[in-house]
Amino acid sequence: MKRLLIFLFAFLGLFSNSYSQNHDFFTIVYNNVPSDNALKTDWGFSVWIEKDGKTILFDTGARPDILKDNLAKLALDPTKISEVVISHEHQDHTGGLGFILKQVNEGTQVFLPNDFNLKLKSDFSELNFTVNDRYREIADGVWLTEIFVNPTNGIKEQALVLEKDKKLIVITGCAHPLINDMCESITEHFPDYNYELVTGGFHLISTKEEAVIDISNKIKNLGFAGIAPSHCTGEESINVFKKEWGENFVALNLGDSYKF
Ligand SMILES: [Zn+2]
Ligand SMILES: [Zn+2]
Repeated sequence: MKRLLIFLFAFLGLFSNSYSQNHDFFTIVYNNVPSDNALKTDWGFSVWIEKDGKTILFDTGARPDILKDNLAKLALDPTKISEVVISHEHQDHTGGLGFILKQVNEGTQVFLPNDFNLKLKSDFSELNFTVNDRYREIADGVWLTEIFVNPTNGIKEQALVLEKDKKLIVITGCAHPLINDMCESITEHFPDYNYELVTGGFHLISTKEEAVIDISNKIKNLGFAGIAPSHCTGEESINVFKKEWGENFVALNLGDSYKF
């Protein structure tokens, strides 16, 4: 059994290496919604992105030990990361940040939302910190959004936008400032693109079905072709999206990859 597992991981390692050489892709490396049983499920979110030779980590999950183990099992080497992005300052997205910043090379870019507590900055003087407050391209075809603010609770958050061949993919952390509003602003900022997919946490755990359907329709009307809600979207709301989007619903949970 042990030998079989070693063989399997070696094979997966080979596969993920050749996979990453030929395609841009992202993989969900931390998530409370399971998929790949070899990985550890835990409340939180983190996405590994490889695009045009750059490696971007979006959010860092809650526990450094789990993030470390999941990356190792996926044969993803944290020293390769060239950009680190934090969507918002909630522990289930920032818990692994200290661990990651210790792994990355000198000069690695770290992009934080503008309300982030910068205490940790002084511990990593060899890294380049940017406190973001506007749309900016952080790597070829990789964009950070402006800072969105939830109108009722004031929670601030930024999202990531991947662009390839005029097609956009939006990745959110928790989407506290409301997923449909964030998507609307992004489509206004990038008007002449096709919107291939929106994925991430949509923060709809206690949202009623009618309200989820309304949000789902708003995102459809903006022109998004696919949707992959996970993390804090909530099981019931995820099922509503599944029903509403049919074959355009994409399952992207822990360990799942998306090629673009
Ligand atoms: Zn979260
Ligand atoms: Zn959050």
